[in-house]
Amino acid sequence: MQRLFDIAVPVPFFPWNTLFSYKEFEGEIETKPGQLVEVSFGRRKVRGVVVRETQKAPDPKIKIKSIHQICIEEPVFSAERLAFVESLGKHYRHPIGLVFEASLPSSIRNGTERTLKHTWPISMEAPNVLTSPFELNEDQEKSFQNIMNGNKAHHLLWGITGSGKTEVYLRCVEEALKRNQTCLVLVPEIALTPQLTERFEARFPGELATFHSAQTPKKTREAWFKVWTGRARVAIGARSALFAPLKNIGLIIVDEEHDGSYKQEEGFRYHAAEAARLLSVQTNARLVLGSATPRAESIALVESGELELNKLSRRASSGSKLPKLHVVDLKKGLAKENKIPHVEIKDEFDLPKIDGDFFLSPELRVSLDRTLDKKEQAILFVNRRGVGSQFICKTCGESCVCPNCDVRLTPHSQKLLCHYCAYEIAIPSKCDSCGSKDEPFTRVGVGTEGLEKILAFHYPDAKVLRLDRDTVQKKDDLEKILTAFSNKEADILVGTQMVAKGHDFPSVSLVGILLADLGLSVPDFRASERTLQLLMQVAGRAGRADIAGEVIIQSFQPENPIFASLLSPDPMTSYFAFLKEELAKREVLRYAPYSRMALLRFDSLENNLAHQASRYVCDALSKINSDKLQVLGPVVSPMAKLRGRYRTQILLKCSHSESFDTALDWILQGWNKGGLEKRFKTRMLVDVDPQSM
Ligand code: ADP
Ligand code: ZN
Ligand code: ZN
Repeated sequence: MQRLFDIAVPVPFFPWNTLFSYKEFEGEIETKPGQLVEVSFGRRKVRGVVVRETQKAPDPKIKIKSIHQICIEEPVFSAERLAFVESLGKHYRHPIGLVFEASLPSSIRNGTERTLKHTWPISMEAPNVLTSPFELNEDQEKSFQNIMNGNKAHHLLWGITGSGKTEVYLRCVEEALKRNQTCLVLVPEIALTPQLTERFEARFPGELATFHSAQTPKKTREAWFKVWTGRARVAIGARSALFAPLKNIGLIIVDEEHDGSYKQEEGFRYHAAEAARLLSVQTNARLVLGSATPRAESIALVESGELELNKLSRRASSGSKLPKLHVVDLKKGLAKENKIPHVEIKDEFDLPKIDGDFFLSPELRVSLDRTLDKKEQAILFVNRRGVGSQFICKTCGESCVCPNCDVRLTPHSQKLLCHYCAYEIAIPSKCDSCGSKDEPFTRVGVGTEGLEKILAFHYPDAKVLRLDRDTVQKKDDLEKILTAFSNKEADILVGTQMVAKGHDFPSVSLVGILLADLGLSVPDFRASERTLQLLMQVAGRAGRADIAGEVIIQSFQPENPIFASLLSPDPMTSYFAFLKEELAKREVLRYAPYSRMALLRFDSLENNLAHQASRYVCDALSKINSDKLQVLGPVVSPMAKLRGRYRTQILLKCSHSESFDTALDWILQGWNKGGLEKRFKTRMLVDVDPQSM
């Protein structure tokens, strides 16, 4: 009697847990759960994963095919990993075959080996650990002991910038390796934090395998095998490192746990920090979520006792003190100039003069002068690329907009660019709205590129480097800029939020934040929290070593509560209070973490079809009779049109997890079975635990 196996096939089938039965492989190799196999599906051949032996008798009417080929003899998913992937599919209601597909690097999935002997652990040699140059201070030691030996396995390591969190991570990894366990270290965007990886490599030479999307498939493949065969016992990387096939995992670290890049926003949408928490529960690994600015969700978990709080409230290196912060009211500058800050495009050279007086407040200028005089370094942060924010007609006031996305185009040096779809045009000589000719436009606002010009005018002798997505295009651009600034080859670093990531520049004594409220107007219930986190992170770049640091924050709304929190003499207490208040609001409004949430996004080439489709789904949802389920919408998305497609959305909130799952399954199945995508010529995407509204 031939045995049957349930196989996860990479096709979008609903319900999410749909598996397909196949007869065992008829060749010499024994079929086992966790194997990567090739099966025919319809007329195609696809690669899927054997999940388990089929439990119930198959429908006799259906002809069952055999597994065509076993791609790798040794299972690529251990029983533990199979369970993990299944639980991700369950949480996100995402087709299990696609979750399996996302959790195996394509270079392994499509690889050609047939037999591979899994000989873990290859060596029982002692792990390669070099000793730290210094001893942990009292707070660090306490956190380390608590994390590795305390009663609780799940920890939040909340330490201000420069408080020595990384040293604690290193010590924990060392301890786990000594216990013959393996470690997973998640970092937000590995390309942005070369320093961190270097510190791990320096302490554990040869023990590391790195994973991130910017590396070649060959490198990923090597890293994967290094972990699989036990030659590397520390997997470090961005989101995808979560799927490194570590065995006997003892420790999971999520550095900068507040970072937005942990959320995968394409294909299988998941939050890597949340997934890491799930993995630690399933594997009994110790978990450390580390940050100087933890998420409100994590604070809620501390309050409910699910995470144990470990605090590092002082900077670790002896001379280093927290910087002095100062908020400048930009409205005062507006009153003086009696106009919105803008520049005529006619004379390129006027740009720095006019804008510069506005965007560099007198307070910031004085501090910048002083910093440069002392031969120290400054970071100037403005969270926008380009020369300005928009390009408007001097006659009719209309902005140039992107034809694909209906958003304003951002002026760059020689062109106008859409930051959403990369559409670009040369600077137009005529206004489409009113027909004005002869350089009818003017630039408004400032971006990193504009700031660079302003500085070139006011500080012609200063050397300026710029860090944003325009200057970082090739693989080593980032490292070059960071190294040059580290080596003091420049006086000022201008940049977007890329400057906020954990960089450690000892000579930076001044941080200037040009437009601190840029993120506050985003229609998202996390906008204040995110802005505060970003500002605290940027501010944390000042005064890292033994020179005093200063932070100047320019804002149009200095009365906003986030500034009171920033300026507090006891920033940890005030940050905690701020988040507690945010959480209280969310509890009233039933937002995450007090409800499960999902965003249903609809997009179509035709505006009315996107509306019809979302209205149809909304009506269907309203038939579910549950006071626990709240359906908000349909509404036009904040980005009403993106890449030529019109967008609407529905927000689902539910205080009861099972009702939430049921509602989602019902909608997803109805949508797919009913062929609604074709009928409405509209796509529907479901984003569970959405991070951006
Ligand atoms: P974080 O990760 O919290 O930003 P780091 O671990 O990078 O902090 O530490 C900040 C600085 O303090 C680094 O230069 C580090 O070498 C130094 N440092 C960390 N721990 C200690 C310690 N126990 N004694 C002396 N210096 C330390
Ligand atoms: Zn666009
Ligand atoms: Zn016009």
